Amino acid sequence: MRDTKRIKAVIFDLDDTLISWEKLAHMSWREFNRPKYDRIHDLVTQWGHTLPPKEQFADVINELNRQSWEKALETGRAEGLAAVLLRGLAFCGVDTADLTPQPILEAYQWEPLPGVTPFPDAHAVLEAIQAQGYKIGLITNAYQPMWMRDNELAHYDLLRFFTARITSGDTGFLKPHPAVYWRMLGLLNLMPHEAIFVGDRPTHDIQGAHSVGMTAVLMAPPYLNHDLGGQTPDFTIASLSELLPILEQLG
Ligand SMILES: [Mg+2]
Repeated sequence: MRDTKRIKAVIFDLDDTLISWEKLAHMSWREFNRPKYDRIHDLVTQWGHTLPPKEQFADVINELNRQSWEKALETGRAEGLAAVLLRGLAFCGVDTADLTPQPILEAYQWEPLPGVTPFPDAHAVLEAIQAQGYKIGLITNAYQPMWMRDNELAHYDLLRFFTARITSGDTGFLKPHPAVYWRMLGLLNLMPHEAIFVGDRPTHDIQGAHSVGMTAVLMAPPYLNHDLGGQTPDFTIASLSELLPILEQLG
């Protein structure tokens, strides 16, 4: 059967697009990450290295994380989590030349954020999109490697839907940099006019999708109030279910 659909793929942002941060538990990034920093401390000291006390080690890594993310937002170039952690260990006096990042990342053990859950219609909408023959992609502005966020997607039972998934940490670029969109299109083997992008941040998701020529849908659930920042989404939806008639319309 010849597929005559113009749109062949729907590419999603993750945070506040497929999973809702509305009820994110009130805790600081440092508080959330502290057990992760402690596990890395345990691992690296088990390897025979000397580190400052856990409290100070957590301060160092947390500050480097913060600086790295701020710089990434400013420059559009994303440093991966492994690089930040190795830099933190080097700052604490560890000779990192022979350290392999994988066990350190595994000790970090990324996990779902407390209070974050998929939007109630996420599974049904993704199932419908998949059943209609669309490929489904994911681009997230995250500095973790995708395999870490995959653990989270599996926890939410969302992993099964995606043909391709990338994080900015993996690609080295943050949305709205066009490179991250081209990378995804390459993975899906599609041209920009064959895909639509759905995301909640006008100046990341919408601007980037438009910069490569993709149709861009703004996810604007009632609890979010992002400034449009001069961007004009092609469509705006308040819930994921509203995507289905849009896809029908785009044919
Ligand atoms: Mg988002």
